[in-house]
Amino acid sequence: MIDLRSDTVTRPTYAMRAAMASASVGDDVFADDPTVNELQRRAAELLGFEAAMFATSGTQANLCALLSHCQRGDEYLVGQSAHTYRYEAGGAAVLGGIVPQPVESRPDGTFDLDLLFGYIKPNDSHFAQTRLLTLENTKDGMPLPPEYVADAQARARDAGLRLHLDGARLWNAAVAGAVEPARIAAGFDSVSVCLSKGLGAPAGSLLVGSSAFIQEARRWRKMLGGGMRQTGILAAAGLLALEHHRHRLADDHANATRLAEGLARIAPLEVAGCNTNMVFVKLNTDPATFGRALAAEDVAVLANPVTRFVTHLDVTADDIDHVVAVVSAVLGDDPDGPRVA
Ligand SMILES: *Cc1c(COP(=O)(O)O)cnc(C)c1O
Repeated sequence: MIDLRSDTVTRPTYAMRAAMASASVGDDVFADDPTVNELQRRAAELLGFEAAMFATSGTQANLCALLSHCQRGDEYLVGQSAHTYRYEAGGAAVLGGIVPQPVESRPDGTFDLDLLFGYIKPNDSHFAQTRLLTLENTKDGMPLPPEYVADAQARARDAGLRLHLDGARLWNAAVAGAVEPARIAAGFDSVSVCLSKGLGAPAGSLLVGSSAFIQEARRWRKMLGGGMRQTGILAAAGLLALEHHRHRLADDHANATRLAEGLARIAPLEVAGCNTNMVFVKLNTDPATFGRALAAEDVAVLANPVTRFVTHLDVTADDIDHVVAVVSAVLGDDPDGPRVA
């Protein structure tokens, strides 16, 4: 099976399993796990922050950040299609009484900053207090332009807002921009990053911030049930991923480009975008039928009117060529191939 549904589907490599098996461990609720401590030290260093906290998932890392930045009745500005708003089950509102103010973003993943900051509420008892701006980088695979981020940060500071970055795929943005991860993370009060996407760890995310902020976040993590014990087993996978799987994200980006070029030659579809490790394809056929036809050829995608193909650690250039051949055959470009019924 060539699985292009997401970059979360990777399996731990043998080297990663070996690192996990031999990890030194302790009780991380007592901050005693040397491997977790090393992972947190390394992440803080790579991202240019004082401290880091290992979390079970990106959702938990973002939620701990929102709960630490905002009080009940505070508001955060967030993209209408941002993960922290749309795909985290409303956790900040449900568990924190934090009011989201979703804002439409433009096709390139940026906000119109006048529109965005126009949502800031006056200091008046009628309104929730606007406290925080969250950005996402990459957004649908698109790295945010650095000048835009700097502008948004400056205006947020002027307005007295705090800043959180959902950097689930920050590593892809760093590789695409050929800059250090700390450059992408600079200017934010907190940043979350995933280890379990393109980096290929089986689980885990990190939240970075000031020491005081991370101390606060650890209380929320405990409350959310995220205080794990000998979790150096997982941290060992994360450490290996940070050291050995970051730079190879360039291969995923090259494979995405290869896929986009291959698919662009197939008449019955339109490549709508190719951003870092994601290719977006507009289908002019029934998505469910297309998805089933690919699955019958051992290619997995989440079929939608705009279908996203995601490259990752477990997909090779040969796999990409095979996928292009399968899609071509399925859509009837190849007279001998299987057809969409
Ligand atoms: C995947 C993802 C997360 C976190 O997801 P988990 O599945 O909870 O680890 C957060 N933000 C973005 C943009 C993501 O893509």
